[in-house]
Amino acid sequence: MRFIAAGEDSLYPPVLSTLRVMRVTSGGDDDRLYMQAATEEAKLSLNEGGIPIGGAVLVRDGGVILSRGGHNRRVQDDDPLMHAEINCIRNAGRIGRYGNTVLYSTLMPCYLCAGAVVQFGIPKVVVGGESASFAGAEDFLREKGVRVVDLNLPGLTEMMAGYIERHADIWNEDIGAL
Ligand SMILES: [Zn+2]
Repeated sequence: MRFIAAGEDSLYPPVLSTLRVMRVTSGGDDDRLYMQAATEEAKLSLNEGGIPIGGAVLVRDGGVILSRGGHNRRVQDDDPLMHAEINCIRNAGRIGRYGNTVLYSTLMPCYLCAGAVVQFGIPKVVVGGESASFAGAEDFLREKGVRVVDLNLPGLTEMMAGYIERHADIWNEDIGAL
C-alpha cells in the first residue's frame, strides 16, 4: 500500500500533510482523518475571506491522495461554479479513471457537485455532516448508485450554521437561492 500525494507540499493543509506519511485506507477511522483534512480546507477558505463550509479531498481506495483538496472559491475567484468538490476534482488533474475513488466533502454535495460525481463515476462520497440542505442531491446520488456515507460530525454542522447565520446573503448566492 503506497501513499502518494500530488502537488506541492506547501499547499497541503496540516492534516493532509500528516496523512501523507501514514498508511491509511478508506473506511472507519480513516474516513474521519480524511474528513479532518477536508475540514482544514474549509478553514483555509475562511482565512481567505471565503465561504468556510466547503472542503473536499479525493482519495484513491488504498490511501492514495489524488487531490491536495479543494474548497469553495466563489468569493476568492469571483467564480460561482467553484464549489469545494469542483475545486477538488480540478486540483486532482486528469487522473483518468475515477472507478475506485472516494470524495470526502464537509457537507452534502449540491446538485452541481453531485452532477460532477455522477458524470465522472466517483462511486463513493463521504459527507461530514448536514445532509438536510441537499436531500434531493443525495437522492440523486443514491439513485445513480453512488454510496453516500454521512459521518454526522456535530462540529461541521455548527460551523456551517454559524457561517450561514452571519453571511446568509453569500450562502444563498452560493446555492442559487437569492
Ligand atoms: Zn456544490
